Amino acid sequence: MDCVFCKIAAGEIPSKKAFEDDRVLAFYDLDPQAPIHILLIPKEHIASAAEITEENGTIVAHIFAVAAKLAKDLNLDKGWRVVTNVGADGGQTVMHMHFHLLGGRSMAWPPG
Ligand code: 5GP
Ligand code: ZN
Repeated sequence: MDCVFCKIAAGEIPSKKAFEDDRVLAFYDLDPQAPIHILLIPKEHIASAAEITEENGTIVAHIFAVAAKLAKDLNLDKGWRVVTNVGADGGQTVMHMHFHLLGGRSMAWPPG
């Protein structure tokens, strides 16, 4: 499959890793939108959060646990944000589910 995040998960495309285990990879975004901008992905290909079900959804809890650990390790004590974009209106450009962990600055609400 021609999926850039599957290739990153497999180590075929290099990335700056923040965390890795058997199920999840976290790596720094190439085009950071905040002082800390990390992408968390399942190693298994899931196209987007629209594909999450009761059966495969335990990976989402694990990803959030990794995000919380990273935020703590990176001293994001004042707060942080996790975002997942879904589909065209959601602004999704890579069709492998990913969660943006953003921190190190104050975030606007609502997002644009
Ligand atoms: P989306 O727009 O789908 O929510 O987010 C995709 C993100 O992936 C963007 O923030 C983009 O900068 C990042 N990205 C796309 N290709 C690569 C890549 O090859 N390496 C890294 N580190 N980030 C990438
Ligand atoms: Zn993929």
